[in-house]
Amino acid sequence: MNYTISQDLFETLAAEIEVLKKERKAVILAHYYQRPEVQDIADFVGDSLQLSQQAANTDAEIIVFCGVHFMAESAAILSPNKVVILPDQKAGCPMADMVDAEGLRAYKKRVPEVQVVCYVNSSAEVKAESDICCTSSNAVKVVQSLQGDNVLFIPDENLGRYAAKILGRSLQFWPGYCKTHDRLSKEDIQQAKNEHPSAKVIVHPECREDICEAADYVGSTAGLIKYAQNSENQEFIVGTESGILHRLHQVCPEKKFYLASERLVCPNMKLTSLEKVRDALKNLSPRVTVKEEIRVKAKAALERMLAL
Ligand code: SF4
Repeated sequence: MNYTISQDLFETLAAEIEVLKKERKAVILAHYYQRPEVQDIADFVGDSLQLSQQAANTDAEIIVFCGVHFMAESAAILSPNKVVILPDQKAGCPMADMVDAEGLRAYKKRVPEVQVVCYVNSSAEVKAESDICCTSSNAVKVVQSLQGDNVLFIPDENLGRYAAKILGRSLQFWPGYCKTHDRLSKEDIQQAKNEHPSAKVIVHPECREDICEAADYVGSTAGLIKYAQNSENQEFIVGTESGILHRLHQVCPEKKFYLASERLVCPNMKLTSLEKVRDALKNLSPRVTVKEEIRVKAKAALERMLAL
C-alpha cells in the first residue's frame, strides 16, 4: 500500500468513516487520481464518466465526492434531491477555470450556429451554455454524433485535437489544457523508454499531441486500466496522474508500472484526505449546489452525452 498515512491511522479513520457513512446513508465516490487511502475507503472508484453514471443512479441520500469541484457539480446536476459534498472546497480544476460562461457566450455570438462540445472538466454554467458534454472515454463518439464542421471543443485543446485527428475532422478549439498532463514532455517519454525498453507507453488524451502520437495506447483512465489488464505485456510507462498507479497495481499485481514523469501529480486531486472525508460526513459540508435554471440546462447537455 502506498498510503500517505500510517496503517494504524488508516484503520482508525476508515472505521470512523464507515460508521458515519451508515448513519448518514451516504455513498462515497472517488476518482482514480485520489490518494490511495481515499480510493480504498470509497464505495466506487472510477473515471469521470463512470462517476457521473454512479451519481445519477445511486439510491443514497448523500454523495461524498472525492474528486474536484466540477465532478461534485455534475453529481448535483444529475441528482438534485441529494446532498452532494466535496470534502475540500478548494479542490478545483485549473483546466475547468480556463473557460467561463461569459467568454463562451461571446464566442457563440461571434460564430453563430456553432455547436459546442464541452468536456466535463468545466463548470455547470459552462455546461449550461453547451450543446453536449463528453468525457475522455467518449469524446470521439460525441464529436462523431455531431454533423458539419461548425463545432467548438472546450476547454481541453489536447483532447479536442486527439478526437479530431481520430475522426479526420476539423474542429474549433478553446485554448485550455490540464496543467498536470500538459507538463509531460517527449523527453520524459524518451527517458522512460531508455530505462524500460520493453514497456508499452500508455497515456491519457489530455497529454499533448506529440505525446499521444508517440504512445502505444491513448485512453481515459478506465481505458488505460483495461488496456493494461488485457495486454500480454508485463511493463508499462504510464502518462497520466500518479493516483492511477494504485488501481493499476491492484488489478495487475504481477505487472510493472512506471510513471512517465514524477511531475504527473495534480495538487487539487491530492487535497482530499481521510480526515476531511470524515469531517465532511460529520458536518455534512462543504456542500456543492447548482442554481436551478443552470442545472436544468447543464443536465440537458450531460444527458445528451449519457444517452449516447
Ligand atoms: S488532473 Fe488536470 S484535468 Fe484533472 S483535475 Fe487536475 S488539473 Fe483538472
